[in-house]
Amino acid sequence: MKAVWDRVLSVPGPTAARLILDELRGEVRLTRAELIERTGLSRSSVSGAVGELLSSGLVAEHTVESGTRDRRPGRPVAGLSLTQAAGLVAAVEFGRSHMSVAVADLSLRVLTAHTAALDVAGGKDAALRAAEAQIRSALTKVPEPRAVVAVGMGLPAPILAADESVVSGSILPGWGGSRPAAELRDRLGLPVAIDNDANLGALAEVRLGACRGARDVLYLKVSSGIGAGLILDGRVHRGAHGIAGEIGHIPVGGVVGTGRACRCGGLRCLETLASTTAVLEALQPSFGLLAAARLVALAGTEPIVRRVLTDAGRAIGSVVGDLANTLNPAVIVLGGPLAEAAGPVLAGLRESLDRRAQPAAGDAVRLVPGALGERASVLGALISAADSATAVFDQGGRRAHDGT
Ligand SMILES: [Zn+2]
Repeated sequence: MKAVWDRVLSVPGPTAARLILDELRGEVRLTRAELIERTGLSRSSVSGAVGELLSSGLVAEHTVESGTRDRRPGRPVAGLSLTQAAGLVAAVEFGRSHMSVAVADLSLRVLTAHTAALDVAGGKDAALRAAEAQIRSALTKVPEPRAVVAVGMGLPAPILAADESVVSGSILPGWGGSRPAAELRDRLGLPVAIDNDANLGALAEVRLGACRGARDVLYLKVSSGIGAGLILDGRVHRGAHGIAGEIGHIPVGGVVGTGRACRCGGLRCLETLASTTAVLEALQPSFGLLAAARLVALAGTEPIVRRVLTDAGRAIGSVVGDLANTLNPAVIVLGGPLAEAAGPVLAGLRESLDRRAQPAAGDAVRLVPGALGERASVLGALISAADSATAVFDQGGRRAHDGT
């Protein structure tokens, strides 16, 4: 097995096997036809390299349920994916009050995952120390822990593209200006890919979830804050500086200079009207202090809850309608805890969208709840690690377990 890796990685420039390994990285599975299309290689080159990779144990073949990949019902096809022997990725995703850690193989099969309570705003150093400990602990639970090739990290804050620093300001106090990916890289001795949690949620829903294969997607992460992840023409769009998608602080309606103050210093920010925090506060007079999970349960039975959720959807739609005109997405995905009570939120969103978006843009867009729930961002961090692993291969293929 190791001999094949050594040969693949020591040959300068693209070999057929290397191109195929690169295409399979971060994908659940691909058929031979998809590999031919993606690599531009001939059928015989793909066939030969796949044969070599199958016998090496780096790639495995599965029969894909008929119709799920090639859209031709009744015709089972062979799907190829990387095995654990090809390497592993780890991920850590920070929420405002939790940290999720997961380890997966390069075809995104999760081997172990764990979520723990953590006050992320309470201190960067403590959070990174906890992340290191949790990742090391997770790696004790998987075979070949030294095969980890990259780590993904998600944060509920914009990340500056230039130096991967956390954008300063009140969004994540105590983290502004820091470079947490570099710090975790130093702690673990592994490459770390960092991104904003909404971007990662979008990536996960496109690759594994509610809108697999869609090329233009607006993913809404509605939790204690609100952010959007944009997939444009099949790629995560971060903008010139990495701040694209920060929709939570767009002011919504109302008279200028009035409305609730936001933690960013603005008034009537979308977040003050439609975040889970805002929804739970609106329901407090009727229901007292609620947890988000309880809110989801009550949405099925309580008209007041549905009304508040529909209002939140309307507020979100007033921002998203303008975005739909600008970006013309094919799918809008509702992520975060409210995805489980998506009916009323999406009904409100649809109402505002239809009022604000051009009919051609509004009518064509599908509104769907996220399929991956709260795991979307940590799964996205695993994907981001797998996608970034090419850099590891390109640096002469130094993998953690090559030295064994
Ligand atoms: Zn704000």
